[in-house]
Amino acid sequence: MKSLLRNTLFAFVALTLLLTACISNDTTENVDGRLKVVSTVSPLTNIIYNIGGDRISLSGIVPEGVNSHTFEPAPSDAIKLAQADLIFINGLNLEIPSLRLAEANLKDGGEIVILGELTINPDEYVYDFSFPKESGSPNPHLWTNPFFALRYAEIVRDKLVEKDPDNAAYYRANYDAFNAKIMALDEAIKATTASIPEANRKLLTYHDSFAYFAPLYGFSIIGAIQPADFSEPSAQEVAALIVQLRDEQLPAIFGSEVFPSPVLDQIGREAGVSYVDTLRDDDLPGEPGTADHSYISLMVYDLKIMAAALGGDPTLMDSVDSGNVTGVDTAVDQAQ
Ligand SMILES: [Zn+2]
Repeated sequence: MKSLLRNTLFAFVALTLLLTACISNDTTENVDGRLKVVSTVSPLTNIIYNIGGDRISLSGIVPEGVNSHTFEPAPSDAIKLAQADLIFINGLNLEIPSLRLAEANLKDGGEIVILGELTINPDEYVYDFSFPKESGSPNPHLWTNPFFALRYAEIVRDKLVEKDPDNAAYYRANYDAFNAKIMALDEAIKATTASIPEANRKLLTYHDSFAYFAPLYGFSIIGAIQPADFSEPSAQEVAALIVQLRDEQLPAIFGSEVFPSPVLDQIGREAGVSYVDTLRDDDLPGEPGTADHSYISLMVYDLKIMAAALGGDPTLMDSVDSGNVTGVDTAVDQAQ
């Protein structure tokens, strides 16, 4: 951990120096008059795109399919951050190196908005096995709760209206349309959850992305086994989980695409349950510029995976119109 911190500091200092060299003669004025907005993980970037559309210049700096919790921004990201009018981050310690870099390079009049910390209070933060209280970093995956995602959209709307009042009506109308989509998503999630036998509404996951989703829809998280330092669980922890799974008689346990887990695969085999390793937490389905590449599509995708594996009806999610309010996201500069 110490060496990780030291490497982070070195990278940070190096980036800061490089950045100073790169932008010393750079004007940070917007060539096309649009607000420059930078975001981190793709669910946030997509929520912002649903409000700002192509009337903002939007960059998402965390590539999809990488571990967002350990992501280190690149020198090119430092330049984007230094030019941004608005920087939206999740917070709850998800993107510490990106936040530090943003703070160090914020331009005059630029603003950093920490969405998670404007959405719930510290007494609502969830701490768990992967995000223990001693670490000081709560579980940051607020966006898997659609109402927290909607609150993110509301904060984004208000900031865009404040900084770019000429387009206020556009941002407000997009928020209203996004709100309607979230309500439809919520209805479909409730119906899909109801189709899963009550005894199966339990999640054992490797990466713990559903801490704020589960209580809203009546799932219980019976475990998340990825240790806080992204290592593998101990032999004792593995043995205890196998016993617990045999007792609970769950049909399936879950991993995510970004964090394939041989250990969870082994636990599944020994406990006689299937291991489904295709959940997503901050890696949107589809490619950028396609209809599937959206936050709502991410939620639809995950609910279908859960329902199919836990004995429910995944087709109940088909009613959701999962495209973006503002169309396909070709206009977004999404790191890949
Ligand atoms: Zn995560």
